[in-house]
Amino acid sequence: MYYNDSVQIQLGDKLSSQVWFTRGVKQGCCLSPFLFALYISGLGEVLQDTKLGIELGAEILTGLFFADDLVLISRTWNRGMNSLLRILDRFCSKMSMTLSVSKTFVLTTGPKDKTWKIGDSGEELKETLVAKYLGINLQLRGRHTLGREQDITGIARRYAHTILSITRGGLDRSRLAKILWETCAVPAFLYGTEAMPIGSNTVIALEKIQTMVGKFILQVPGSTSKVAAWCDAGLMPIQYRIWKRKAVFLWKLIFRNEDALMQEGLRDIISVGGEDPWVQEISTIEAALGKSITRFTLKELKSRISHVASLAVLDIKREHDSVSSLPQPRTWFVLQPHVNDSWYSKILNMTRAGNMRLGNRMKNRKDIQVKYCPWCEAQSIRVRLNESHLILSCGGVKEERTKEGVQAYFRRHSGKMANHLVLRMYLGQDGSKPDALRLRGATIHRIVEAWFNRI
Ligand SMILES: [Zn+2]
Repeated sequence: MYYNDSVQIQLGDKLSSQVWFTRGVKQGCCLSPFLFALYISGLGEVLQDTKLGIELGAEILTGLFFADDLVLISRTWNRGMNSLLRILDRFCSKMSMTLSVSKTFVLTTGPKDKTWKIGDSGEELKETLVAKYLGINLQLRGRHTLGREQDITGIARRYAHTILSITRGGLDRSRLAKILWETCAVPAFLYGTEAMPIGSNTVIALEKIQTMVGKFILQVPGSTSKVAAWCDAGLMPIQYRIWKRKAVFLWKLIFRNEDALMQEGLRDIISVGGEDPWVQEISTIEAALGKSITRFTLKELKSRISHVASLAVLDIKREHDSVSSLPQPRTWFVLQPHVNDSWYSKILNMTRAGNMRLGNRMKNRKDIQVKYCPWCEAQSIRVRLNESHLILSCGGVKEERTKEGVQAYFRRHSGKMANHLVLRMYLGQDGSKPDALRLRGATIHRIVEAWFNRI
């Protein structure tokens, strides 16, 4: 089956010359892992018999095998590792296999500047500080996953910029950007975070990147509060995404994993207790959820974390005056149904986010920044300028408001609640459908344009 095997590459209607296979197994062939396992399984037994690895409860772990990757684990940096390497050499020559020395790394906590001999020619290996295993940078000196943590923000930023640039000119930009973020970017940069501690600085940096994507989806200005991205673009805050991954990972480890080694590893980490930063994070999550992760079904666990996240968002929203008119999502952490690429959706999102560029938060298009409504001030009335004043009560645009039916809407509700709450109703809290909301976006646009013409 592997005899005389070759490939040719087709480019247009031309074929490249043949490339002959002389090593390795076929990529993408379902037989490959079995062939590899058949070859390598003997090595596992020999390694295990040495008992040179680390103890995990009742088990001793001397090697990790994953696809064509092999990790040798030794308790001692000199004698143990050298015997494991000798065993590997002998095994390889017996099976007529060669080790890819350039892809071999040694991580150690032992003395620096130590070297190891490897391969038939006795090549020397120096210690590597950070090595990639299963796509994750790991190190033994210092915190093991620090390398990965430092990579995460870079990966997230690259994904965000790619999404922004490839969706900019496309159709249904908002929806496409949201889908790419959720299904490609987030799983890629959070890969591995379920099993490692994550510092708050990393979370803050990731949140900034996510907020940037959220504002792009909503077409709102950069100065918009991140609460708008959570509520309207439906982006769950990064902290809770990480919590969800960790909690689900632990839940599955406890209830769905039959692997004795994994179970031993888990018991080992938990027995260290409060000193392990990962265990500490689990305790924080459990405190926020109100009970132990083991007391939930998987479905309950996921929805409980979403619920806790939505409560936290509401708390932050209450503290922000600028988003006091922002309606609360009926369904949390999904792209709100009124959001699309159109300019009226954009106007509506800016109004909902309390960032209409009127000049009350930063300079407006007339290059002025004011605290009070300039039209009202000219009539010797001093009233704070904000979205609800302009849309619901400014005398300067009364005519437009009446014509558009906003006056009547306001009159129906104004006796019962504060202005910003009436505006919140008008912006969607009253249960209006997306199409009706987009019409309101257009209405707001006309009122605001009239106001700008008069100041
Ligand atoms: Zn006014």
